[in-house]
Amino acid sequence: MAGVLEDAEISRVLAIMAHPDDVDFSAAGTVARWTEAGLEVVYCIVTDGDAGGLDDGFPREKMPALRRAEQVAAAKCVGVTDVRFLGYPDGRVEATLDLRRDLARVIRQVRPDRVLCPSPERNYARIGFGHPDHRAVGSAALDAVYPDARNPFAFPELRERESLEAWTVREVWIGGGFGPEPGHYVDVTETFGRKLAALRAHESQTGHMTDLDERIRTRLALVAQQAGLPEGRLAEGFRVLDTA
Ligand SMILES: [Zn+2]
Repeated sequence: MAGVLEDAEISRVLAIMAHPDDVDFSAAGTVARWTEAGLEVVYCIVTDGDAGGLDDGFPREKMPALRRAEQVAAAKCVGVTDVRFLGYPDGRVEATLDLRRDLARVIRQVRPDRVLCPSPERNYARIGFGHPDHRAVGSAALDAVYPDARNPFAFPELRERESLEAWTVREVWIGGGFGPEPGHYVDVTETFGRKLAALRAHESQTGHMTDLDERIRTRLALVAQQAGLPEGRLAEGFRVLDTA
């Protein structure tokens, strides 16, 4: 696909996701490749995933701390040590001006060349990819990339009170169910083990999945096939937007 920036041309990536584990399901193999290539990757997770988990006996008030810890551990598996949480309530995220400002703040702090985020669109083929929180975060993230983070007069308090100058993100990667559009594919065969380790770190979410390895491998093999990669390869798919 023309126009996708080479990893060697950039230095920082910011992944903006709704829940702990989203980045790992959609893109951890790719993130591992980025960090192996020397890119600095930062995670910004909008909620604490406090509506997640399957164990009814686990005290709900302890869920946010558990899920944050799991995401931090998962991040380490793929070379990411800077993980920021915004603490929005899980299951009730809307693309509000507050969220746009909060994301524009993080973009101006991190100054990424590339932003990774979920799709703001509903996926009719795979309804599980279009969780309302994912769509809201995808929409707010794109609005934060354009125009909020780059317009010095948007959310003027960011400059006036926090000295955060405008920042232009050059490229956005939409991950995890980008609809029928032709995509950009990353071969993650070599980093699959690291992705799996990251997913296993989300014990409260994946601990019960005895077939996790098989399930993820099957999905990524299908994406690789879609990408036209040879038999036996695994891939993650994205839609890449030029936002420079
Ligand atoms: Zn999610």
